[in-house]
Amino acid sequence: MRLEKCWFCSSTVYPGHGIQFVRNDAKVFRFCRSKCHKNFKMKRNPRKVKWTKAYRHLRGKDMTQDATFEFERKRNRPERYDRNVTEQTLKAIPLITKIRHERQKTHINKRQQAGKSMSRKKDAKELDQDLQMLPKKDIAHYEPKTKVLVSQLKTEENLMEE
Ligand SMILES: [Zn+2]
Repeated sequence: MRLEKCWFCSSTVYPGHGIQFVRNDAKVFRFCRSKCHKNFKMKRNPRKVKWTKAYRHLRGKDMTQDATFEFERKRNRPERYDRNVTEQTLKAIPLITKIRHERQKTHINKRQQAGKSMSRKKDAKELDQDLQMLPKKDIAHYEPKTKVLVSQLKTEENLMEE
């Protein structure tokens, strides 16, 4: 059983699913669903369509380089069946998937960090400028937040880079 990749969106095409197009120069294009096939017929470039893997890879939105991707490889020569190897592979698959998910999580967290710290800076600034937003009893002993927060964010960023 061979799992193919969709030419347009790069998702997995399972046996019995999707459609295959063979161009008259014998190049094979596989599509996971009619959505991808239609986009191909419209001559769209997958790199310019936002929901494809190619677009996300190109803009650094997904994790692209990782050791867990090395396991998945296309072989044109059939492997000789070995019970032990098959057993170990089946055991390893969930573990590898778990590791990959963890790494993807940290990748996304890292990407979001810049936006998060920016919005926190903006909030602190707004609070410093608009003290009336606070309840009256808190205004008397209020300390400006911006300076404290900026230095705090800087140390956080340094920690992330290490
Ligand atoms: Zn597709």
